[in-house]
Amino acid sequence: MRHGAVSPESILIAGAWRGAASGESLPVHAPDTGEVIGAIARGGAAEIDAAVNAARTAFEGPWGRTAPADRGRILARLAALIAANADDLVASEAEDCGKPLKQARADIAAVARYFEFYAGAADKVHGETIPYQPGFTVMVQRVPHGVTGHIIPWNYPAQMFGRTLAPALATGNACVLKPAEAACATVLRLAALAMEAGLPAGALNVVTGLGSEAGAALAAHPGIDFLSFTGSPDTGTAVQKACAEHHRACTLELGGKSPQIVFADADLDRALPVILNAIVQNAGQTCSAGSRLLVERRLLDTLVPRLAERFAGLRVGPSHLDADCGPLISETQLTRVRSFLDRADADGLPLLAEGGADALTAGGYYVAPRLYGPVPEDHPLAQQEVFGPVLALVPFEDEADAIRIANGTAFGLVAGIWTENGGRQMRMATALRAGQVFVNGYGAGSGIELPFGGMGRSGHGREKGMEALREFTVAKTVVLNHG
Ligand code: NAD
Repeated sequence: MRHGAVSPESILIAGAWRGAASGESLPVHAPDTGEVIGAIARGGAAEIDAAVNAARTAFEGPWGRTAPADRGRILARLAALIAANADDLVASEAEDCGKPLKQARADIAAVARYFEFYAGAADKVHGETIPYQPGFTVMVQRVPHGVTGHIIPWNYPAQMFGRTLAPALATGNACVLKPAEAACATVLRLAALAMEAGLPAGALNVVTGLGSEAGAALAAHPGIDFLSFTGSPDTGTAVQKACAEHHRACTLELGGKSPQIVFADADLDRALPVILNAIVQNAGQTCSAGSRLLVERRLLDTLVPRLAERFAGLRVGPSHLDADCGPLISETQLTRVRSFLDRADADGLPLLAEGGADALTAGGYYVAPRLYGPVPEDHPLAQQEVFGPVLALVPFEDEADAIRIANGTAFGLVAGIWTENGGRQMRMATALRAGQVFVNGYGAGSGIELPFGGMGRSGHGREKGMEALREFTVAKTVVLNHG
């Protein structure tokens, strides 16, 4: 049996694993080969309803009565279990998503770190008192929402499990998770480890199924108090509308078209490997992929040949070869990325570089990483999220031009600035419209301590760091009149 094989009993409700009431399942494909490697339950509205009820029972019962320090201990045990089972989880995530092994290793280390970080934070969520008037004591408590819904995508399933659930559980919420149908094998293993770590039944429930069925049912369910959504901007709109029906708050972590901005004084030895990695990592299927390369015009003749050489040296291949770039997740995604490439070719955009094209004959959902440029700043390749290893180079004239182009999309997730000029570093960081700005680096995947989230079409709300503890709690003001 291959590693990521999962069973159709993939729904976890009130501590018990089960299949869909309808008996229906969905096939799971390996991106490396396209081969069917298992099946998951096709849960829907009935399973979501049962999961939300189980979460409510846990929240009003054993989980709600668990002391913060004990919640922290359970999460710390889960972090330790993830570390102890790392080899198995890495193999599962690599196979299920087609990730190069080094990427899967980084993902599993990150999910352990999420639980470690928030285990330590569970008993440090403090409220405050407000000096109001004589005779009054005013406390502002940070209390959990109650039952939280979590909808996550397929690009980093294991990391998303940690990112959205660890702070929610640390702050005492009971959770219902709808993982992505295209990749959830590792999520199911992680949920089993969470139960082994001692989470009471119902504190975490998982319903697998289609987005249009289980996902839509969760977003629209009147019994959840808060929704954490990570996925595409269009689905984010649908989910937020569903939340609005119940006046329910949500966080939306959506897409991006993040710029890497390179000035003529940049240290290219340092910048180029990072710029390349930021677009080929996870085959470009990263919300924070550095998918636009803004280059000061007088640097073009130096930068382009050096970057093209690096593209040409890329290895593309299946996860066990641990190449630089693996396959895309699915046939659907392959068709989508190819449509962008066809449009670029039809519009005559110069192809400056391509890497690993030989792997395209190997089967699976592969696409060779490409660098196009100059790309007009209003072209779809410079405006829309491709979610594949395709980098669009856009030249700029000066600082003001760079800021205008960088801020000239609907998105605002991450930005990278490459310059040795200290004043310009700060001016650019201030002017860029993005949730995270990196200067002489681009570590979007790093730093669980660092708040992360978007502006504009990239969404709203913040995950990671201590900010996530605020998102998963609400301020409750208690006024004592003892005058
Ligand atoms: P998607 O929106 O199609 O799916 C995301 C999740 O939503 C899946 O679990 C899916 O089943 C579910 N879903 C689909 N339709 C739904 C509906 N009508 N109601 C409720 N749930 C529904 O996105 P995707 O293609 O899986 O993921 C790729 C997108 O996610 C990209 O745009 C990427 O940028 C974004 N993303 C963002 C971040 C971030 O942190 N900002 C991280 C990872 C991915």
